Amino acid sequence: MATISIENVRKNFGAFEVIKGVSFEVADGQFAVLVGPSGCGKSTLLRMIAGLESVTKGNIKLDGKRINDVPPDQRGIAMVFQSYALYPHMTVAENIGFSLDLKKVPKATIRKEVGQVAELLQLSELLDRRPSALSGGQRQRVAIGRAIIKQPRVILFDEPLSNLDASLRVQMRAELQRLHQALRPTIIYVTHDQVEAMTMADTIVVLNQGNVAQWAHPIELYRRPRSTFVATFIGSPRMNLIKGIIASKELMPSFTAAEGWTVPLAGRDLAAMHLQSAWLGIRPEDIRLVDANSEADLSGKVVIVERLGAETYVNVVKGRETLLVRVQGDIAVRPGDTVQLAFDRAAFHLFDQADQVFPA
Ligand code: ATP
Repeated sequence: MATISIENVRKNFGAFEVIKGVSFEVADGQFAVLVGPSGCGKSTLLRMIAGLESVTKGNIKLDGKRINDVPPDQRGIAMVFQSYALYPHMTVAENIGFSLDLKKVPKATIRKEVGQVAELLQLSELLDRRPSALSGGQRQRVAIGRAIIKQPRVILFDEPLSNLDASLRVQMRAELQRLHQALRPTIIYVTHDQVEAMTMADTIVVLNQGNVAQWAHPIELYRRPRSTFVATFIGSPRMNLIKGIIASKELMPSFTAAEGWTVPLAGRDLAAMHLQSAWLGIRPEDIRLVDANSEADLSGKVVIVERLGAETYVNVVKGRETLLVRVQGDIAVRPGDTVQLAFDRAAFHLFDQADQVFPA
């Protein structure tokens, strides 16, 4: 068992509070991903869990036991960094087996364990090479091998794939998932990459300015963000947010955008929001381009068209508002065209003046 509990953890660097009372739990064998804007404290939190940084307040627990003061090498936690820092004068086998060598494990045992790890990471053919003769992806696999040979109960990853090119990232992502399924360690993984977070995580912790903004399964975060921050942080391209006012006195409540168009908000009790400012959130894939005026919620002018082959992003301007529409396939629209937009109204998100989801 290796459940990590973060309980009201705070971290100060001098007078500067970087982590402001963070709590979450990663269950045994879970793959948790930490995301958040640059400087929000992800690496600091990871380093505190590893024992490389002291905890100012609160508890870090491993299986219910407080480990704040346990030295890093006695925590059973391994960490893999973005810069893999392999020993250049050692072979792949020596790099992977180094920690066992330090512990004076018999050579034959080291050879066997290095062999098993190498097989798992598809490094068996490369064991005699030095790091300078490896690709970036292979080096990162050696760094992972060096971490897992210690059979850690928890592995912390700090942006391990960010130095790799796009295709290697895809390959390494799949390998990390395979590794996780094979060994089932508890993993906490820091990344800036939306796709890594969404595809690998059992749970995502979104940090913002040293606080947990939301902590949930990736699809739950995507479907039910609790604030405008999470709504726009999770999902790429990001959710459209439109400023406006709610009217709820009539039979059918509605939202009127600052640019003057109105959409009905059927089936919602918005009495408490009557005549209040609000944000209407709608993801780009929940807006359609339609032909008939009768179907349309509004019309606007196309300003930018981004063609990705499998899909097209169309930026449509309505007054001072720009809406991003995500369309399957390649479509025949050009900058300057006037288009009609229809919303999938069941996919609306509403946020109040405090940027929190409504109803809560
Ligand atoms: P990034 O995504 O850019 O890597 P991050 O979310 O991992 O950022 P941290 O590296 O944890 O952010 O840093 C959080 C804040 O703490 C930053 O403002 C950083 O400048 C500050 N910080 C980190 N380490 C120290 C330190 N040793 N002394 C003082 N301030 C620090």
